[in-house]
Amino acid sequence: MKFIRIALVATLFILSACKSEETITQKRPQKVILLIGDGTGLAQVSTAFYFKETSPNYGRFKHLGLIKTSSSQQDITDSAAAGTAFACGIKTYNGAIGVADDSTKVKNIVEIISSKNIKSGLISTSSITHATPASFYAHVLRRGYEEDIASDFVESDVDFIAGGGINFFNKREDGRDLLAELAQKNFEIDTTAIGDFSTIQSSSKVAYLLAENHMPPAAEGRGGFLANATELAIQFLGKDESDFFMMVEGSQVDWGGHANNGDYLVSELIDFDDAIGKALDYAEQDGNTLVIVTADHETGGLTLSSTLKKTEEGREYSDYDDIDLTFSTSGHSATLVPVFAYGPGAEEFAGIYENTEIFEKILKLTEWRGEGE
Ligand code: MG
Ligand code: ZN
Repeated sequence: MKFIRIALVATLFILSACKSEETITQKRPQKVILLIGDGTGLAQVSTAFYFKETSPNYGRFKHLGLIKTSSSQQDITDSAAAGTAFACGIKTYNGAIGVADDSTKVKNIVEIISSKNIKSGLISTSSITHATPASFYAHVLRRGYEEDIASDFVESDVDFIAGGGINFFNKREDGRDLLAELAQKNFEIDTTAIGDFSTIQSSSKVAYLLAENHMPPAAEGRGGFLANATELAIQFLGKDESDFFMMVEGSQVDWGGHANNGDYLVSELIDFDDAIGKALDYAEQDGNTLVIVTADHETGGLTLSSTLKKTEEGREYSDYDDIDLTFSTSGHSATLVPVFAYGPGAEEFAGIYENTEIFEKILKLTEWRGEGE
């Protein structure tokens, strides 16, 4: 009997020790890297598992969920309304950037955290003024107002950008030279290439604007831009060991879908997966970083069907050994899209929920939101 009692006490002790270890792993994420594959539904993600020569980084996640992407007005969202859902936590109309249905400006995550001196970075393979990245710093009624979006960037507190869009900064109808204005605001500006960390280590803010409008496709000379910029931004924003938020967009998976061009789509998806790898590598060794990978919506109504072939006798058959990327639309679709999460709080991203919950979950887990926000 005595032995049993000792064993029981020992068991309870072990259980409570396990429990306290569990609470340690439930710690607050100090850094958040949100990667958005524009137009990247489950079929797009699946292509990495068939066509990437190395093991896809998508396969490294253990916590998955699905989000509902509809905008406030339409079943099928665009990237502006979906970007605003992630950045501001509200459902709004298609085309809206950082404004609500009634046109009022809504505070975005960058504005919320910069008031607490938390740093932020935005990376995109489109123009940095395009709908997805714009949602994280601008407030305009229509996504097409890209010169106004660039003006909003100058007023924003974003610390690091990399992408295209030079023309919206210095070839403007109003004649302003926003690159000069950014330089006055202590931005180190480079319009040639992503550099080494040593070249920007002592800078307070950095802007890499590397194309007049969008960055070229991965297959047409963009090289390792997205993965390199992701790695560099992590080094730059993490240099003081403080909290940071980063958004990385693989913009052109969407454009491969719109064009119903399987090769374009797959090369962009694989390039985006490389950037995911950089974020995960860092998160694994850092231990305080939450990585979230999702999409604003699916594009192209893509499926991975079998290829329809004919025998020598002319009989049609489906070749189950030959995947055919089959599209059902040149636009977006309404399917739920996957969410992948890694790091402290990752389990919170399981389940099926609205896209606005991504914003809510990030702010809740990081405790970045102040009172009344
Ligand atoms: Mg986009
Ligand atoms: Zn699109």
